[in-house]
Amino acid sequence: MKTMSELFFHRGIILTIYPSNRQKQIIRQNGSSARFVYNRLVAVSEELYRLRKTATYLKPVQDRIDYLETAYSSAKNIVNAIPFLAEKGIDSDMIGNVKRNYANAWKKFRKYPNAGIPTFHKKDGTYSYQTSNHYQLSRKPNSKGLYDGSIRFLDKNHINLPVLGKIRFKCSKKEIEALFNFPDDVRIGTCRISIDNIGRCYVSLSLASDTPFYEVFPETHTACGIDLNLTNFLYCSDGTQIDNPKFGRSLKDKLAKEQRKLSLKRNRAEKEGRNFYDSKNYQKQKKKVSALQKKIARRRSDFHWNTANDLVKSHDYIFAEDLKVKNLLKNHKLAYAITDVSWSEFLQKLSWTAEKRGKSFLKVNPKNTTQTCSECGYICSGEKHIKLGIEDWICPNCGTHHIRDYNASKNILAIGLNILKSAGITPEL
Ligand SMILES: [Zn+2]
Repeated sequence: MKTMSELFFHRGIILTIYPSNRQKQIIRQNGSSARFVYNRLVAVSEELYRLRKTATYLKPVQDRIDYLETAYSSAKNIVNAIPFLAEKGIDSDMIGNVKRNYANAWKKFRKYPNAGIPTFHKKDGTYSYQTSNHYQLSRKPNSKGLYDGSIRFLDKNHINLPVLGKIRFKCSKKEIEALFNFPDDVRIGTCRISIDNIGRCYVSLSLASDTPFYEVFPETHTACGIDLNLTNFLYCSDGTQIDNPKFGRSLKDKLAKEQRKLSLKRNRAEKEGRNFYDSKNYQKQKKKVSALQKKIARRRSDFHWNTANDLVKSHDYIFAEDLKVKNLLKNHKLAYAITDVSWSEFLQKLSWTAEKRGKSFLKVNPKNTTQTCSECGYICSGEKHIKLGIEDWICPNCGTHHIRDYNASKNILAIGLNILKSAGITPEL
């Protein structure tokens, strides 16, 4: 059987799982052990860094360096150095995965120094760990990868996980049907098992196959530029305008109300000299607030996926502004920084959707996209500079009336098409 990296197409799937109390206990045990091992690795590397800086040779220092280097060199040695990792219930693959994630964090830092070096994982009421799937070497040639590994589907409602055993799961019916009826063999790679801060449990699986998981969208022979802005969510150069998602006043009002209650409870605990982390009322209220926040986040995420899907369905080439550059240009505008997170999440989803559906997505430099007239190319500057808040304007050169964001989206499209042209790509439009 091919390994994960030998298989060409990858995807992930998240299932909500319903473990028993005993299984929940095992997840917490592995989750906190994973955090412990990771933090220990961070601490050891910090200590080694300090010790190695010692200029003169001191035997105790060298002994300590030797000890740390051996004790944390392999997963097996870590178990010896941290005895409770040998306890019953501990998933042996969890430790190997922590080591790999720690090494990957360093790799990421070397590639992108902005990412920062690995730091301690804080206790935040969540638990998560990663484990690996194993297939027996003596597999029958026609056996299916979904059903015969150490991580395997038992039926449409149950999955078997290492150490934990059989667990009931829930996932969209459409998605699970598609997976079970997939025409090619699917291999399960690693899986992350987690409990969030309000006690819900999930498992996310990485899957791989030689056949694409997603159908490619038919070509439309169109390209578009999109302008992300503050007045609405986005303006597309084909003239469509998409408003920010409306979560309903009630949901936002409710969140504000519960957040007020939370700070009252915190103040009360502080006044009475109690640590609010130990206050039951505070913790209960905190759960309520995070459940509401998650609900809003989920709705926003659904909105992003749907918008991305619609755009990718109706255009072969999509161009958007590079937000990093945009923020450099406008970093004095706080409002942009606030919406930035939501925009980057959206562009990330748009990029994934385009890739899996066989379309192209490209980020372009947003310089002057708002200030340029898309009809004649005149750039407004100095006194004629178009300030934030001006929604429409008339070009001083050619007299065209422009809707600010629509004009910007047309410029983004033109920049994108120019990039394609200079790269020697001539799209059939
Ligand atoms: Zn003009």
